[in-house]
Amino acid sequence: MTKTTALARDLWNGLLDLVYPAHCLVCGTAGDDYLCANCIEQIDVIGEQHCIRCAMPCEAPICNDCRNQLYEFESAASAGVYEGVLRKALHALKYDRHLVMVEPLADLMTRCFPRRQFSGKVDVVVPIPIHRCRMVDRGFNQSLELSRRMCERLSLPLEPQVLYKTRRTRHQADLSQDQRVANLRCAFGVSNPNIVAGKQVLLVDDVFTTGSTLNEAALALKNAGAQSVHVYTLSRSV
Ligand SMILES: [Zn+2]
Ligand SMILES: [Zn+2]
Repeated sequence: MTKTTALARDLWNGLLDLVYPAHCLVCGTAGDDYLCANCIEQIDVIGEQHCIRCAMPCEAPICNDCRNQLYEFESAASAGVYEGVLRKALHALKYDRHLVMVEPLADLMTRCFPRRQFSGKVDVVVPIPIHRCRMVDRGFNQSLELSRRMCERLSLPLEPQVLYKTRRTRHQADLSQDQRVANLRCAFGVSNPNIVAGKQVLLVDDVFTTGSTLNEAALALKNAGAQSVHVYTLSRSV
Protein backbone atom coordinates (compact mmCIF):
# COMPACT_ATOMS: atom_id res chain seq x y z
CA MET A 1 0.00 0.00 0.00
CA THR A 2 1.41 3.42 -0.91
CA LYS A 3 1.70 6.13 1.70
CA THR A 4 -1.06 8.17 0.05
CA THR A 5 -3.50 5.24 -0.03
CA ALA A 6 -2.66 4.41 3.59
CA LEU A 7 -3.27 8.02 4.60
CA ALA A 8 -6.57 8.11 2.68
CA ARG A 9 -7.66 4.89 4.38
CA ASP A 10 -6.74 6.22 7.84
CA LEU A 11 -8.59 9.47 7.26
CA TRP A 12 -11.58 7.50 6.04
CA ASN A 13 -11.49 5.20 9.09
CA GLY A 14 -11.23 8.20 11.41
CA LEU A 15 -14.13 9.89 9.66
CA LEU A 16 -16.28 6.76 9.83
CA ASP A 17 -15.63 6.50 13.57
CA LEU A 18 -16.96 10.04 13.96
CA VAL A 19 -20.03 10.06 11.73
CA TYR A 20 -21.09 6.45 11.61
CA PRO A 21 -23.12 4.99 14.47
CA ALA A 22 -20.69 3.08 16.70
CA HIS A 23 -20.12 -0.54 15.83
CA CYS A 24 -17.76 -3.20 17.14
CA LEU A 25 -14.53 -2.88 15.16
CA VAL A 26 -13.81 -6.57 15.65
CA CYS A 27 -17.10 -8.32 14.80
CA GLY A 28 -19.09 -5.47 13.19
CA THR A 29 -22.07 -5.68 15.54
CA ALA A 30 -23.96 -2.38 15.66
CA GLY A 31 -24.25 -0.81 19.09
CA ASP A 32 -22.68 1.84 21.29
CA ASP A 33 -19.34 0.10 21.72
CA TYR A 34 -16.27 -0.08 19.51
CA LEU A 35 -15.47 -3.37 21.22
CA CYS A 36 -18.72 -5.12 22.07
CA ALA A 37 -19.43 -7.02 25.29
CA ASN A 38 -19.58 -10.30 23.41
CA CYS A 39 -16.09 -9.78 21.98
CA ILE A 40 -14.69 -8.65 25.36
CA GLU A 41 -16.00 -11.86 26.87
CA GLN A 42 -14.03 -13.90 24.33
CA ILE A 43 -10.69 -12.35 25.35
CA ASP A 44 -8.46 -14.87 27.07
CA VAL A 45 -7.48 -12.91 30.20
CA ILE A 46 -4.38 -14.15 31.98
CA GLY A 47 -5.04 -13.45 35.68
CA GLU A 48 -2.71 -14.52 38.47
CA GLN A 49 -1.59 -17.81 36.90
CA HIS A 50 1.44 -16.72 34.91
CA CYS A 51 5.21 -16.87 34.95
CA ILE A 52 6.32 -14.02 37.18
CA ARG A 53 9.34 -13.29 34.95
CA CYS A 54 7.83 -13.31 31.46
CA ALA A 55 4.02 -13.12 31.95
CA MET A 56 3.45 -16.40 30.07
CA PRO A 57 0.23 -18.12 31.24
CA CYS A 58 1.57 -20.96 33.37
CA GLU A 59 0.67 -22.78 36.58
CA ALA A 60 4.18 -22.75 38.02
CA PRO A 61 5.56 -19.44 39.34
CA ILE A 62 8.41 -19.58 36.80
CA CYS A 63 8.00 -21.17 33.35
CA ASN A 64 10.49 -23.64 31.82
CA ASP A 65 11.93 -21.04 29.42
CA CYS A 66 12.68 -18.65 32.27
CA ARG A 67 14.73 -21.16 34.24
CA ASN A 68 17.65 -20.30 31.93
CA GLN A 69 16.63 -16.75 31.12
CA LEU A 70 17.16 -13.62 33.14
CA TYR A 71 15.65 -10.29 32.19
CA GLU A 72 16.71 -6.80 33.23
CA PHE A 73 13.22 -6.30 34.68
CA GLU A 74 12.18 -7.93 37.94
CA SER A 75 8.72 -9.18 36.96
CA ALA A 76 6.13 -9.09 34.20
CA ALA A 77 2.37 -9.42 33.72
CA SER A 78 -0.03 -9.09 30.80
CA ALA A 79 -3.77 -8.51 30.67
CA GLY A 80 -4.63 -11.11 28.01
CA VAL A 81 -3.35 -13.57 25.42
CA TYR A 82 -2.38 -12.02 22.06
CA GLU A 83 -4.83 -14.05 19.98
CA GLY A 84 -8.32 -13.83 18.53
CA VAL A 85 -10.31 -10.78 19.61
CA LEU A 86 -7.48 -9.09 21.51
CA ARG A 87 -5.10 -9.40 18.56
CA LYS A 88 -7.74 -8.04 16.15
CA ALA A 89 -8.62 -5.19 18.51
CA LEU A 90 -4.96 -4.21 18.87
CA HIS A 91 -4.49 -4.32 15.09
CA ALA A 92 -7.54 -2.06 14.67
CA LEU A 93 -5.82 0.44 16.97
CA LYS A 94 -2.25 0.12 15.77
CA TYR A 95 -2.47 -0.52 12.04
CA ASP A 96 -5.93 0.80 11.10
CA ARG A 97 -5.48 3.67 13.54
CA HIS A 98 -8.86 3.48 15.22
CA LEU A 99 -7.91 5.58 18.25
CA VAL A 100 -11.33 4.85 19.75
CA MET A 101 -9.95 1.39 20.58
CA VAL A 102 -7.69 2.89 23.28
CA GLU A 103 -10.59 3.20 25.71
CA PRO A 104 -11.81 -0.43 25.82
CA LEU A 105 -8.25 -1.81 25.68
CA ALA A 106 -6.95 0.44 28.45
CA ASP A 107 -10.04 -0.46 30.47
CA LEU A 108 -9.11 -4.12 30.05
CA MET A 109 -5.58 -3.33 31.32
CA THR A 110 -7.08 -1.49 34.28
CA ARG A 111 -9.45 -4.33 35.13
CA CYS A 112 -6.70 -6.96 34.84
CA PHE A 113 -4.01 -4.89 36.60
CA PRO A 114 -2.27 -7.36 38.94
CA ARG A 115 -2.56 -5.35 42.13
CA ARG A 116 -0.90 -7.96 44.32
CA GLN A 117 2.12 -8.40 42.04
CA PHE A 118 2.76 -4.66 41.67
CA SER A 119 1.59 -3.55 45.11
CA GLY A 120 4.00 -0.91 46.48
CA LYS A 121 6.27 -1.35 43.45
CA VAL A 122 5.15 1.46 41.15
CA ASP A 123 6.47 5.00 41.68
CA VAL A 124 6.18 5.96 38.04
CA VAL A 125 4.74 4.51 34.81
CA VAL A 126 6.84 4.73 31.63
CA PRO A 127 5.51 3.67 28.21
CA ILE A 128 7.74 2.08 25.54
CA PRO A 129 8.39 4.90 23.06
CA ILE A 130 8.33 4.77 19.28
CA HIS A 131 10.85 6.59 17.10
CA ARG A 132 9.82 10.09 16.01
CA CYS A 133 9.74 8.96 12.34
CA ARG A 134 7.25 6.21 13.19
CA MET A 135 5.31 8.73 15.27
CA VAL A 136 4.98 10.89 12.14
CA ASP A 137 3.76 7.83 10.17
CA ARG A 138 1.28 6.55 12.75
CA GLY A 139 0.33 9.80 14.45
CA PHE A 140 0.33 8.35 17.95
CA ASN A 141 2.14 5.89 20.20
CA GLN A 142 -0.31 3.16 21.22
CA SER A 143 1.67 2.28 24.39
CA LEU A 144 1.53 5.89 25.54
CA GLU A 145 -2.20 6.20 24.81
CA LEU A 146 -2.97 2.94 26.66
CA SER A 147 -0.75 4.02 29.60
CA ARG A 148 -2.34 7.45 29.76
CA ARG A 149 -5.87 6.14 30.22
CA MET A 150 -4.81 3.31 32.54
CA CYS A 151 -2.88 5.77 34.74
CA GLU A 152 -5.92 8.05 34.95
CA ARG A 153 -8.09 5.15 36.02
CA LEU A 154 -5.58 3.79 38.57
CA SER A 155 -4.27 7.22 39.73
CA LEU A 156 -0.69 6.35 38.84
CA PRO A 157 1.89 8.98 37.81
CA LEU A 158 2.81 8.79 34.10
CA GLU A 159 6.14 9.92 32.62
CA PRO A 160 5.45 10.02 28.87
CA GLN A 161 8.74 11.61 27.72
CA VAL A 162 11.51 10.21 29.89
CA LEU A 163 12.31 7.17 27.73
CA TYR A 164 13.00 7.76 24.03
CA LYS A 165 14.16 5.85 20.99
CA THR A 166 17.74 6.80 20.05
CA ARG A 167 17.43 5.49 16.49
CA ARG A 168 15.03 3.75 14.15
CA THR A 169 14.99 -0.02 14.46
CA ARG A 170 13.68 -2.70 12.13
CA HIS A 171 10.33 -4.38 12.84
CA GLN A 172 11.05 -7.03 15.46
CA ALA A 173 8.51 -9.41 13.93
CA ASP A 174 10.75 -9.93 10.85
CA LEU A 175 13.81 -10.95 12.88
CA SER A 176 15.27 -14.02 14.62
CA GLN A 177 15.87 -13.90 18.39
CA ASP A 178 19.60 -13.01 17.95
CA GLN A 179 18.76 -10.36 15.37
CA ARG A 180 16.10 -8.90 17.69
CA VAL A 181 18.64 -8.42 20.47
CA ALA A 182 21.20 -6.83 18.08
CA ASN A 183 18.51 -4.66 16.47
CA LEU A 184 17.66 -3.09 19.83
CA ARG A 185 21.11 -2.69 21.36
CA CYS A 186 21.33 0.83 22.84
CA ALA A 187 18.08 1.75 21.03
CA PHE A 188 16.64 3.47 24.13
CA GLY A 189 17.80 6.56 25.96
CA VAL A 190 16.65 8.35 29.11
CA SER A 191 16.16 12.09 28.62
CA ASN A 192 16.28 13.07 32.29
CA PRO A 193 17.78 10.45 34.65
CA ASN A 194 16.56 12.42 37.71
CA ILE A 195 12.99 11.36 36.89
CA VAL A 196 13.76 7.65 37.25
CA ALA A 197 16.79 7.60 39.58
CA GLY A 198 15.99 5.62 42.72
CA LYS A 199 12.42 5.01 41.45
CA GLN A 200 10.41 1.85 40.98
CA VAL A 201 9.36 1.97 37.34
CA LEU A 202 6.43 0.21 35.68
CA LEU A 203 7.23 -0.18 31.99
CA VAL A 204 4.16 -0.48 29.74
CA ASP A 205 3.85 -1.86 26.20
CA ASP A 206 1.13 -3.29 23.95
CA VAL A 207 2.60 -6.76 23.35
CA PHE A 208 5.14 -8.95 25.13
CA THR A 209 6.60 -11.23 22.44
CA THR A 210 10.17 -12.32 23.25
CA GLY A 211 10.79 -9.60 25.82
CA SER A 212 13.77 -8.16 23.85
CA THR A 213 12.26 -4.66 23.54
CA LEU A 214 11.22 -4.52 27.18
CA ASN A 215 14.58 -5.92 28.25
CA GLU A 216 16.56 -3.26 26.38
CA ALA A 217 14.29 -0.49 27.68
CA ALA A 218 14.62 -1.83 31.24
CA LEU A 219 18.41 -1.83 30.85
CA ALA A 220 18.38 1.85 29.80
CA LEU A 221 16.22 2.71 32.83
CA LYS A 222 18.50 0.75 35.17
CA ASN A 223 21.58 2.45 33.70
CA ALA A 224 19.87 5.77 34.44
CA GLY A 225 19.54 4.72 38.09
CA ALA A 226 16.06 3.16 38.31
CA GLN A 227 15.80 1.08 41.47
CA SER A 228 13.57 -1.56 39.87
CA VAL A 229 11.62 -2.14 36.67
CA HIS A 230 8.42 -4.19 36.43
CA VAL A 231 6.62 -4.76 33.15
CA TYR A 232 2.93 -4.68 32.27
CA THR A 233 1.60 -5.25 28.74
CA LEU A 234 -1.85 -5.34 27.22
CA SER A 235 -1.15 -8.71 25.64
CA ARG A 236 1.20 -11.69 25.71
CA SER A 237 1.99 -13.71 22.61
CA VAL A 238 1.99 -17.43 23.43
ZN1 LIG B 1 -17.75 -7.51 18.75
ZN1 LIG C 1 8.64 -17.27 31.92
